[in-house]
Amino acid sequence: MKPTPQPAWNADRPDMRAFAQAAGLLKADEALARFDRLASEALAHDGVSPDVQVHWQAQGEMRASATGGAPAPWLHLQARTTIALTCQRCLGPVQTPLSVDRWFRFVADEATAAALDDDCEEDLLALEPRPQLHELLEDELLMELPLVPMHEVCPVPVVMQAGDPALGATSAPAERRNPFAELAKLKK
Ligand SMILES: [Zn+2]
Repeated sequence: MKPTPQPAWNADRPDMRAFAQAAGLLKADEALARFDRLASEALAHDGVSPDVQVHWQAQGEMRASATGGAPAPWLHLQARTTIALTCQRCLGPVQTPLSVDRWFRFVADEATAAALDDDCEEDLLALEPRPQLHELLEDELLMELPLVPMHEVCPVPVVMQAGDPALGATSAPAERRNPFAELAKLKK
């Protein structure tokens, strides 16, 4: 095989088979502000500092199948950042590190991925339509967000006085509705 220079990969919609076959590597430090959905989770009153970066890398690899089939394209996605969320106890900013380290196996299309998904422990993605790497990265980071961000020890002691009407009231945020549970109810 003659050596070929690494092509410039399209981080937007890479051809994942070619990317894996070439053991392609994409890495970048991007401003958190470029991830709209994630940035909107950051402290509203603080905005997102332009200094806050998301460090990420995507590595392609052809890996042999466990069942002895043809090697399949895989993607190793890693990312880390720190996002300021609102502490649900003291309402102050709580610096929350997020880190993603996941492998995805690519299959031909979305129908194949859906068909295999139930009895497959691997995370499957479709080769076509080509995945949007940036969106995928943001989805993974969003999944790392804690449901109830909270300081381990709040910097300001929470004042609780006897006779305080807030005492004894639950400070937990309203329970999030689980759309799947709602759906399950409808199906019955
Ligand atoms: Zn706190």
